[in-house]
Amino acid sequence: MQMNANRKIIVMPCSGIGKVHGLIAREVTYAVTDEMAPANAETLCLALLVSGDEEAKAKVREADCIAIDGCPKLCAAKNVEMAGGKVIRSTRVVDAFKNHRGAEPGTATTLADDGWKIVREIAGDIADRICCQCESSLAQARLGDGASAEEVK
Ligand code: SF4
Repeated sequence: MQMNANRKIIVMPCSGIGKVHGLIAREVTYAVTDEMAPANAETLCLALLVSGDEEAKAKVREADCIAIDGCPKLCAAKNVEMAGGKVIRSTRVVDAFKNHRGAEPGTATTLADDGWKIVREIAGDIADRICCQCESSLAQARLGDGASAEEVK
């Protein structure tokens, strides 16, 4: 998949207020954009998109987006797409719990150890994907500049 090599990927969490899944979605976003892949990822306020902010809509149209939703309602992914953005990956926090049966993640306002473990797991997976994507795009951009396939390996 090709992406704009000059733009950061937008990681868009749902709002998920009142649910631990929403808190996990937001903490995953911060872990990716602030710690794991700050050079290649940034975030944006979902409420701006929902309210029709033109600057926010332009931003998601110009970048690839990764949506992180707490549940199958997919509020982040749907609103990015409704704003004309491209969702290159849609992650549902609820799915991560399938590998953590019996986990006690915490509450809507405070994560417990199990919750942080799930945050790191999802964030690490997304950061890996972002780094792979950026490396691939850079290689494609360099090929476009006339470099050979051997040169960009
Ligand atoms: S995706 Fe689910 S948890 Fe997130 S804002 Fe929508 S309804 Fe709430």
